[in-house]
Amino acid sequence: MVDTTTPDPIISIRDLVVGFGDRNVIEGFSLDVRKGEVLGIIGPSGSGKSVTLRALIGLLPKRAGTIEVFGQDYAGMSVRDRVAVERRWGVLFQQGALFSSLTVLENVEFPMREHFDIPRKLRREIARFKIDLVGLSPESENLYPAELSGGMIKRAALARALALDPDIIFLDEPTAGLDPIGAARFDELVLSLKTALGLTVYMVTHDLDSLVTVCDRIAAIGQGKLLEVGTLAELQASDDPWLVDYFHGPRA
Ligand code: ADP
Ligand code: MG
Repeated sequence: MVDTTTPDPIISIRDLVVGFGDRNVIEGFSLDVRKGEVLGIIGPSGSGKSVTLRALIGLLPKRAGTIEVFGQDYAGMSVRDRVAVERRWGVLFQQGALFSSLTVLENVEFPMREHFDIPRKLRREIARFKIDLVGLSPESENLYPAELSGGMIKRAALARALALDPDIIFLDEPTAGLDPIGAARFDELVLSLKTALGLTVYMVTHDLDSLVTVCDRIAAIGQGKLLEVGTLAELQASDDPWLVDYFHGPRA
């Protein structure tokens, strides 16, 4: 039996259904994200990993089920409460991680503009602090996304996701497109943020190395359902055909 409950969830998903048109992409599953964990989300391409992530942050409507974030269901929330909750998470999307017409510094400042009236000078200071935190040099703050390497783009996007000091960050395939060394460095960064800031991390990934080095638990999604959730060892021992192929197939 898949164990989906936990005593101290930061996010609680129950019987979630999300769809488009006449098709349900997510057909009902339950999952908890525990405070302080790095939860890895794996699954075949097109299985609904990004759709689930977008539903969790309220960008896609759900058709059924509940999603409680910090103990509250988004669906019934007032706009004011919603803004307060949104401040507590950061997101690194799979595509379009940065605004191409803004510099690194302006990108990292952006969420602070949207959410509060922080004086410009303080906003800059906070943004510079985050840029340093993710391991980018001070000189990179005036560069535009087109001038950055793939690894730098991911770091800058992570700095932006951290701008409002979130409790949880959502990462959608953060190491996709990076070379193995860049990917390993990004994983180290995620791990250090978890350790230093106590961040909870929800990370969709295809990267087996990321699962091994940074994830405390892994949830596998397939055909709109939750296939398994557990530790790496537990998922490696699963007899689900997709997981068997993923961990023990010829490309593993
Ligand atoms: P992945 O697991 O690779 O991240 P996605 O969550 O992006 O997969 O997509 C899951 C399914 O939902 C796919 O079949 C995709 O085509 C479909 N889908 C995603 N976004 C939309 C949309 N805006 N409208 C219609 N179908 C969508
Ligand atoms: Mg995706």
